[in-house]
Amino acid sequence: MYKEIFKYIKKYNNIVIARHIGVDPDAMASQIALRDSIKLTFPEKKVLAVGNGSTKFSYIGKLDKYEDMENALLILVDIPDKKRIDGVDISKFDFVIKIDHHPFVEDFGGLEYIVDTASSACEILMDIILNTKLECNKEIAETLYYGLISDSNRFLFSNCSPKTFSLVSTYLDMYKFDIAELYKKMYARPLNEVRFEGYIAENMIITDNGVGYIDVTDDIINKYKVDSAAPGNMINNFNFINEVLVWATITEDVKAGLIRISIRSRGPVINTVAEKFNGGGHKMASGARVETFEEAHLLINELDKAALEYIKENKLEESYDN
Ligand code: AMP
Repeated sequence: MYKEIFKYIKKYNNIVIARHIGVDPDAMASQIALRDSIKLTFPEKKVLAVGNGSTKFSYIGKLDKYEDMENALLILVDIPDKKRIDGVDISKFDFVIKIDHHPFVEDFGGLEYIVDTASSACEILMDIILNTKLECNKEIAETLYYGLISDSNRFLFSNCSPKTFSLVSTYLDMYKFDIAELYKKMYARPLNEVRFEGYIAENMIITDNGVGYIDVTDDIINKYKVDSAAPGNMINNFNFINEVLVWATITEDVKAGLIRISIRSRGPVINTVAEKFNGGGHKMASGARVETFEEAHLLINELDKAALEYIKENKLEESYDN
């Protein structure tokens, strides 16, 4: 498969690399690292990494403006479903390659390379780059590390395997980047965000079966001077709370005219619940979009049911009797 991916990259002179809407560090890092690796290997090719960015992730690098190009190859990274592709129309491209670590949702009609056991799209790319003639340098290695670290939450999640550590070890050995310096760029944040995190902790509601959730209205977002992506971006910080098995941020996005939900779990499977509410994702990390807080609370009820089943199956009644 790696050889085939490389063959298509070699064949096309115009290449666009896209990913999912609602940019996150793994999505952005994987497209930028792949773009830079292709350009390093084939300087004459035109390669664009496109989609809406976020100033919050500017440490990862710069995205390109989309341009229509003749006879172009589209590479989609970190995206399982067509409806969430950011900024490109698949039908305009000669050929499509998907490189993803989400559970399979739908075929994009080209070359599909899915490793749903990988921690991140960046982990898959580390492997591809290492095993093809695609070139790498210290900067690209750092970009890949950003994405892997973000999606594995610094090796905290069960999506980390011996292969994850082995790839990181190889890249650290080869490119000798300073991980402490990278963490400074990734994790430094303004005080208002920290205060806002305090607001979430203070106001989180916990259901009978250990589902923690918070409704974040536009007024609250404005009061703390954060943006509507902030609650979702900090959701992993609410892991490991004894009384909370599943947790969600429910955020009003007035500009987009919708309610964004980010969900995480320490046990119950949540992506099947998210799928019923215009969402999806991984078993333990999912998201959904709805129109009203009422609809979001229906989702919370479903999560509560899933949590109850999990509690019963695992005989955890005493721990989650809130
Ligand atoms: P987030 O909470 O936005 O970080 O998303 C967690 C995971 O769920 C990521 O893998 C996303 O790609 C996925 N996800 C988030 N929102 C949606 C949605 N509306 N539809 C399908 N998947 C989603």
